[in-house]
Amino acid sequence: MTEISLFAQLAAELTERKAASLYRTRRVLESAQGARVTVAGRELLNFCSNDYLGLANHPAIVAAAQAGAARWGVGSGASHLVAGHFAVEQELEERLAAWAGKPAAITLSTGYMANLAVVTGLVGRGDAVFADKTNHASLNDAMALSRADVKRFPHSDVAALERLLAASSAKRKLIIVDAVFSMDGDIAPLAQMLALAEAYDAMLYIDDAHGFGVLGEGRGTLVELGLASPRIIYMATLGKAAGVAGAYIAAEQVVIDYLINTAKPYIYTTAAPPMIAAAMHASLDVIETDIARRDTLHRHIAYFRETLAGRCELLPSRTAIQPIILPDVETAVAISQALFDAGFWVAAIRPPTVPTPRLRVILTAAHTEAEVAALCEILLKILKGS
Ligand SMILES: *Cc1c(COP(=O)(O)O)cnc(C)c1O
Repeated sequence: MTEISLFAQLAAELTERKAASLYRTRRVLESAQGARVTVAGRELLNFCSNDYLGLANHPAIVAAAQAGAARWGVGSGASHLVAGHFAVEQELEERLAAWAGKPAAITLSTGYMANLAVVTGLVGRGDAVFADKTNHASLNDAMALSRADVKRFPHSDVAALERLLAASSAKRKLIIVDAVFSMDGDIAPLAQMLALAEAYDAMLYIDDAHGFGVLGEGRGTLVELGLASPRIIYMATLGKAAGVAGAYIAAEQVVIDYLINTAKPYIYTTAAPPMIAAAMHASLDVIETDIARRDTLHRHIAYFRETLAGRCELLPSRTAIQPIILPDVETAVAISQALFDAGFWVAAIRPPTVPTPRLRVILTAAHTEAEVAALCEILLKILKGS
């Protein structure tokens, strides 16, 4: 066999990653998603899924997906613009728009694609985007793909954002920010950002992947903060708290009509299976009515923070994302492994995903009080010994 030099290069880079404790592998789940999952024949307490409300395996939502498949089939067969836009999806868009307090909405197959769609659909050469440095990777990719002038400001630094806006002579200006930062769990200063959008005639694009379903009685971060404006374009993902899949963009009708006409990640892709929309209707029913789930989650968050306060480095998060900052990558990986060996699945998040290594604990409504207490107990024991 002739040696292929590309493969030798790839293998060498992977070896470097291994040496730096940065090599990534996947664990295979042998059960459905939930607070308790099976991996390699062992039951684990799962503290790393984004299934914040415990809906990924909710019986009513599973039943709605099954009924949806029976009613609408499995494949959508075409893109939304050609022949793949179904009544169950049209109704879902109207419901999701109303839930966000916006006139119109569209759904996409993933949040990653929704971010590509909004940013590349709205801005291009001659325009400028203004982005928090801690934004999600999909937003960074979206900006690069758009060819707009990219201006990044330090995390939540509103004064720096204002300087960038004041200095810009771009045709269109789009401020881009995570509402809840995915690796830190803190909330962006959205009220000040909206004021700047108004002062400098910019639009404000908000990625609420981690606020939807959790904050603002489930309506998300804008409702939590009491913010509304036609200048805001809102995006939430439906594979996290909603427990299904996909994402939606809600905005003024003209913005949605424009995206339907310009956003390539919307136009040139096969629509998601309509059964996904059927499942999402059931998920929204639960999010709207089952308030106890959110209360349980917020009780777990309060308990976790009270129990660990002063005993390890927490970040200022009132969301389900509760990182514990650690001194180095090796410690983060070793603690995550020790927890795993003890039956607790907690992800170690490392550079380049984040600048500072950490455990990223995710609490969900599906956990019991005893399970959260057990996690705190073992964390304190392991952190003390490390
Ligand atoms: C998860 C996430 C996305 C991507 O959404 P998917 O539906 O998983 O593709 C986008 N933005 C943020 C902030 C996220 O956390």
